[in-house]
Amino acid sequence: MSERAIAVLTSGGDAPGMNAALRAVTRAGIAEGFRVIGIRRGYNGLLNKDVFDLKLRSVSNIINRGGTVLYTARSEEFNTPAGVKKAADSCRELGICGIVVIGGDGSFRGARDLSGQGIPCVGIPGTIDNDIACSDYTVGFDTAMNTAMEMIDKIRDTAQSHDRCSVVEVMGRRCGDIALQTGIATGATAILVPEVPYDFEKDVLGRIRAAQSVGKSHFVIVVAEGVGGIDKLAHDIEECTGIESRATVLGHVQRGGSPTIRDRVVASEMGSKAVDLLKQGIGNRVLAVQNGKIVDLDITEALSLERKFDYELYKTALKISI
Ligand code: ATP
Repeated sequence: MSERAIAVLTSGGDAPGMNAALRAVTRAGIAEGFRVIGIRRGYNGLLNKDVFDLKLRSVSNIINRGGTVLYTARSEEFNTPAGVKKAADSCRELGICGIVVIGGDGSFRGARDLSGQGIPCVGIPGTIDNDIACSDYTVGFDTAMNTAMEMIDKIRDTAQSHDRCSVVEVMGRRCGDIALQTGIATGATAILVPEVPYDFEKDVLGRIRAAQSVGKSHFVIVVAEGVGGIDKLAHDIEECTGIESRATVLGHVQRGGSPTIRDRVVASEMGSKAVDLLKQGIGNRVLAVQNGKIVDLDITEALSLERKFDYELYKTALKISI
């Protein structure tokens, strides 16, 4: 067996499709003649040398599973210059010549720092939030949106039966993409996202009243996590309109579940591409989806980009959600 080893870890919040990515890294890595090492619980596992060999059959039957079989963590110790140095020393002791880091922005900062210590790292965007500026898409986003959509459909059934207003909070941290797309997909009367400041009178009450005036008798308001405050919102809607209102936070249900085909395929492609880069000794790169293609970028450059919100889609949502 080759002496050269590559490793793979998952870090930050878990996302459906992480398993598909690490499966692809394992299989592509072995096909390229690498020994493949799994690191448990993100950068913590590197510091503690909590690692194990990944074989072809170690990753059997995980492409369809949510979460991450490598476990994930946020590591305070790694997030210091001494921690990064210790992690690089661990890599040298373990014979690791490159690492695939599956996670979000924070995990990529770690990958950049580790690359700076001579350990080439390639990042794969794995987060349900779709909040990575350099990439049009992050692994886990599609599954999370589909879960949120199914849940809101169910909430809408009961809202309709009782002529109610349902205010539903979806995840996404500071990014409104899950709210925007699930709001469109579930016919929400109003969609509140952190990227667009809102006025309660105009953007919530005004939209409910406009829909009411054309015969609508139940309402769904989708609110992004980054806006929050849905209990007060539901209370204020009921007080101002007399429409019985309920608040629901969907929460972590959106992080679990079997990944959709899109998440499995993007994760698989990225896992394989990450191995290609490491095979060439190329590190400090992050993979991204841009215009439907998978590309790689310098991590520092990628981290300096600003996320773009789809204002056109937002305007479309406002037009048709009546
Ligand atoms: P998600 O978006 O799902 O939360 P994330 O990767 O952004 O994922 P973070 O908690 O921000 O999640 O980062 C994960 C880990 O990456 C941290 O616990 C830390 O160990 C490491 N990390 C974060 N920022 C840095 C940094 N500036 N330098 C080195 N390591 C970092």
